[in-house]
Amino acid sequence: MSTGKINVAVENIFPLIKKFLYSDHEIFLRELVSNATDATLKLKHLTNIGESKAEYGQPIIEIKINKDKRTLHVIDQGLGMTAEEVGKYINEVAFSGAEEFINQYKDSAKDSGIIGHFGLGFYSAFMVAKQVEIITKSHTDAPAAHWTCDGSPEYTLEEHDKSERGTEIILHIDSDSDEFLEEARIRELLTKYNKFMPIPIKFGTREETREEGEGDNKKEIKETVDNIINNPTPAWTKKPADLKEEDYKAFYRELYPMQFEEPLFNIHLNVDYPFNLTGILYFPKLNNDLNIQKDRIQLYQNQVFVTDNVEGIVPEFLTMLRGVIDSPDIPLNVSRSYLQAEGAVKKISNYITKKVADKLQSIFKNERENLEQKWNDIKVVIEYGMLSEEKFFEKAQKFNLFPTTDGTYLTLDELKEQTKTLQTDKEDKLIQLYAANVEEQHAYIQAAKDKGYTVLLLDSPIVGHLLQKLEQEDDKLSFVRVDSDHIDKLITKDEPQLSKLTDEQKETLKPLIEDVVPKEKYTVQLEAMDSEAAPFMITQPEFMRRMKEMQQTGGGGMFGGGFPDMYQLVVNVNHPLVSQILETKTKKKQERLIKQSLDLARLSQSLLKGEELTAFIKRSFEMIK
Ligand code: ADP
Ligand code: MG
Repeated sequence: MSTGKINVAVENIFPLIKKFLYSDHEIFLRELVSNATDATLKLKHLTNIGESKAEYGQPIIEIKINKDKRTLHVIDQGLGMTAEEVGKYINEVAFSGAEEFINQYKDSAKDSGIIGHFGLGFYSAFMVAKQVEIITKSHTDAPAAHWTCDGSPEYTLEEHDKSERGTEIILHIDSDSDEFLEEARIRELLTKYNKFMPIPIKFGTREETREEGEGDNKKEIKETVDNIINNPTPAWTKKPADLKEEDYKAFYRELYPMQFEEPLFNIHLNVDYPFNLTGILYFPKLNNDLNIQKDRIQLYQNQVFVTDNVEGIVPEFLTMLRGVIDSPDIPLNVSRSYLQAEGAVKKISNYITKKVADKLQSIFKNERENLEQKWNDIKVVIEYGMLSEEKFFEKAQKFNLFPTTDGTYLTLDELKEQTKTLQTDKEDKLIQLYAANVEEQHAYIQAAKDKGYTVLLLDSPIVGHLLQKLEQEDDKLSFVRVDSDHIDKLITKDEPQLSKLTDEQKETLKPLIEDVVPKEKYTVQLEAMDSEAAPFMITQPEFMRRMKEMQQTGGGGMFGGGFPDMYQLVVNVNHPLVSQILETKTKKKQERLIKQSLDLARLSQSLLKGEELTAFIKRSFEMIK
């Protein structure tokens, strides 16, 4: 037996590591299983190239807990180490790595959100163990070695009689880390970090029944089999050509077992130049529950789970997606601010944006109906992307769909083509009418449809920002909500209708109405319109309304505080009811007619509520009794 002192500058880094990484103790298991995986894959490589005489076989990694002895074991059948190698790789490499880590990240280590990304390696075992043993037998003829250390620079190293190849790491769990002796906790960690690692991981056993024999001789046989925690070949490591739609869906369920909705689309990422990246992204059906927060894109490094905080790596608008990204090229052992400034990461983010745009474009081209069907569930993501990523905006213009109130879907080009003949105003501007709510704006939509106009149905909360942007790109295009003015005024190129009222009559009418209508809310506007059009109509100018909506969804507002709710009360002077109001003898009756008409107009805009609605209903009953 030999004893020794590890040559490190920091006398005892153990307490330091414990202190700095307090919240992330659990990563020790990920590190040890990663080392076991590396050791196994290295042996595979050596046997493949004929540099090891060992029989590779079908190695597994086993995790065991011994509650009585308070130990946790990580056992692999990898290439193992000779005593000399233990001295080199553990005493020197692992310890100096830990020392370097501490020196470099002493100050930033408080930022615990990123700490889990640091690969502390073997040394992280000391975060939960008061003593660590390594029993290892190299794949060569060298005898097995037994190393013991309590985290201080002193260690012992002696021969051991282990005869089978591989390494067993034994952690003597510290009294403040009892949780890591609990089966449920270890299972949770293995599932979180190692679910898709490339070597099978055994944790305990389970009962399995299988049938044997035929007919009367049929027997059920109960067997105890290894309980394998992981799927060593997850879908993203396979070639897209080898996967069917069903495989992608099955993998989604594997990733998010608590998700019962099927994903809408998937995108298989696969690039090896200029960086290495694989993965599968899914467009989920976004309902309003908060699962969006919980089930996020997971980031892996060579099949080891790293984090589900992909901020900076995935463009913001795509953080609403789900799935996995695996890249050995994402520099995980650096801080987030560095990560964001890093060119490689920006390239990855751009690549993902491009891939998502290309995929949507191909769905649009090859299975447009499918895209249309799912459009309402994904449009917010697309709109957000168009607003936040210029490159995406350029590509998405080709497949971004505008739903119409008739249930059809048009691209911007198709829209322009279709409306070019009919929906232009005096200045030859294309006026694209839209509604936000079919129920509430029914009367306006109907009026426009009667004239043969196409009305879009745009109801996403951020669409106002997108319309603004599209109008900036094309100054001949103007989006106008159906209720922002009366239809004739919005579009028609014709000369205005002749008024049935004289100027004098109009001068009497206006103050009459203004007396009844609340001034702070409505400006009265007399218009000569088709006598079939409604007599009283409430409109809200596009500009004011849109600015207000944009302000509510962040940015874009031109005015500081809130906007006042200002409406226009458009009175159709050619409607018989308006003449009737004028001809009515008593002032009281006149007022009642105006009030009733105003309320009807408000009703059709869903603006009549509460006390006023109650009063209106009461008044209406009075009138008909
Ligand atoms: P890293 O894995 O980044 O190299 P670690 O601190 O995790 O750093 O491990 C240090 C070294 O110890 C490894 O590079 C490897 O040579 C050796 N090692 C650790 N665990 C094992 C193992 N289970 N089998 C064989 N070698 C191991
Ligand atoms: Mg390691």
